[in-house]
Amino acid sequence: MVSLDARAPGKPDVGGPCNGCGVCCAVETCPLGLLLFRRRKGPCPGLGWQSEYSRYVCGVLADPKRFLGWLPASLGRALVFRWIAAGKGCDSTAILMDVEPSSTSTRAHGSGMTFPGGESDGGAR
Ligand code: SF4
Ligand code: SF4
Repeated sequence: MVSLDARAPGKPDVGGPCNGCGVCCAVETCPLGLLLFRRRKGPCPGLGWQSEYSRYVCGVLADPKRFLGWLPASLGRALVFRWIAAGKGCDSTAILMDVEPSSTSTRAHGSGMTFPGGESDGGAR
């Protein structure tokens, strides 16, 4: 079962601009997530909720130092950008069924970013 914040935007059609709905990373990990977190099934531990913008982001891209601390931040961000094909439009064919409007599994903490399990980075981007 996929659980997403009710404030997140609805998933666009495949090929449409990514709006940060978070569906793809909640369902399964991308190749980078598979490599980093050794799991194929979602939610990806790297999926972060940005309350300020009411959208999900790839925490690995937003904060590469957190997940790829062994790489210089600029290099890490550039690599992640390529690995996850960021900015290429929605490529998820996942279809959500039985959407419950009260689903708020990921809570906002100020303007910081939160991750599955309630972990917070404690700071704004
Ligand atoms: S790529 Fe993922 S986060 Fe972006 S719109 Fe598609 S399903 Fe949503
Ligand atoms: S794009 Fe980021 S959050 Fe989404 S599955 Fe890949 S590593 Fe995880």
